[in-house]
Amino acid sequence: MNHQEILDHEETLDPENWDEMRALGHRMVEDMITYLQTVRERPVWRALPPSVKAHLQQPVPLAPQGAEGAYQDFVEHVLPYPHGNIHPRYWGFVNGTGSALGALSEMLAATMNPNVGGADHSAIYVEEQVLDWCKEMLGFPQSASGLLVSGGSMANLIGLAVARNAKAGFDIRKEGVAAAPGMMTVYCSTETHSSVQKAVELMGLGSKALRKIPVDNNYRMAFSQLEKMIAEDRAAGHLPICVVGNAGTVNTGAIDPLAQISDLCRREKIWFHVDGAFGALAYLAPEMRRALHGMEAADSLAFDLHKWMYMPYEAGCVLIKDRTAHRNAFTLVPEYLVQHERGLSGGPFWLANYGIQLSRGFRALKVWLLLKEHGVDKYRRLIRQNIAQARYLAQLVEQNAELELVAPVALNVVCFRFNPKNMSEEKLNEVNRQILMELHERGIASPTSTILHGTYALRAAITNHRSRKEDFDVLVAETLRLGAEMLCTRG
Ligand SMILES: *Cc1c(COP(=O)(O)O)cnc(C)c1O
Repeated sequence: MNHQEILDHEETLDPENWDEMRALGHRMVEDMITYLQTVRERPVWRALPPSVKAHLQQPVPLAPQGAEGAYQDFVEHVLPYPHGNIHPRYWGFVNGTGSALGALSEMLAATMNPNVGGADHSAIYVEEQVLDWCKEMLGFPQSASGLLVSGGSMANLIGLAVARNAKAGFDIRKEGVAAAPGMMTVYCSTETHSSVQKAVELMGLGSKALRKIPVDNNYRMAFSQLEKMIAEDRAAGHLPICVVGNAGTVNTGAIDPLAQISDLCRREKIWFHVDGAFGALAYLAPEMRRALHGMEAADSLAFDLHKWMYMPYEAGCVLIKDRTAHRNAFTLVPEYLVQHERGLSGGPFWLANYGIQLSRGFRALKVWLLLKEHGVDKYRRLIRQNIAQARYLAQLVEQNAELELVAPVALNVVCFRFNPKNMSEEKLNEVNRQILMELHERGIASPTSTILHGTYALRAAITNHRSRKEDFDVLVAETLRLGAEMLCTRG
């Protein structure tokens, strides 16, 4: 076809028949709301059958399957094999649970489909408002800057990048890390999430510049070791630039001595970043603020809305006290992005200049809608509920002679194991591994695992608004039953 012929047969992705699309949309809403309503009746997890995996390896479709056909394919091959994190007995890794309006809000955002990198349109103001609300919720001043990001990993990367640039003492954007007069060192506990190391590596500092400080019996950073390490590094001519404190470690939910770290950082003129991926949200409950004391004093704070705020993936946030330092780290305005004083090209200082992404989705909308739907008080109660459930599970474990806690419960994470007290450590590790896989494959419950000082532990991280007390009774009863079964088959 030549250009003229193409123009004579112009096409679009809009539906040929809007009524059919509307009907399909209604059906989807109907199906999805029912799916959420009945989630408890399904297994938490089930393996994908080989036929389904094969179906998901077909080559790219050239011919149309139609909206209806594509949806059918989803219903048959995708929907029945979920991660399971929306299920009431899911407590794996640290995953949020989503909600009905959360799902619908994704449709609203995708319908408007704005690019929230910048320019003058409503989505920008929605994100600015959501950021202001986050500051208000977590005790940060309104003068702070921030950005919604994909999650805690990106929030940590942005916080650390601002820290590096602000503390380097030279124009690192221009000169690069090679121009540093000494090794730029970053400090965190050995329990810190892997995303911090990834960020340090990506920033060109090298993982050996990440000083991993040992933890105490409660998995909190050993503060005196931090002081010692910083002093030693200074004596060796290195440049300590940042300490990362944990508000809720991924393994056990431990909270580092944030106030002590913050005081030290102020004295030493070191940037203080807090990784509060899920734990920062415990700040909503005033009785938890003592444990989190010092978090408000951080220079930057990373946290997730898709974990302990139960919002749909993806939604994380970084807040930074020094707005200028934040802008200095990322602002770059080429000719085609120059801001104007009026029109679409106007608007507030571009959000793209606070991070790495230029094109940005409207993830602020779900946060905005969900905070409006429920109000912060509801989230406060749910977070308390999850903490109370963690205590309840810990109590069940402690009351049972064949179970034991493997770490103290500081927040909403419970690490425990089956231990009939007559097995070697090696066998215990293996039996508990088998119990976990059985819990998953039988669709009973989805805790996951970790290893603490060589001990394999079943780990329940409770960021689930659908869990009820009896779900933890099920977890405990089934763990014991599977443990007993395994003892029999082992002979
Ligand atoms: C989950 C988690 C992260 C990473 O966040 P993502 O949202 O998965 O990118 C970082 N730190 C801690 C403590 C976490 O629990």
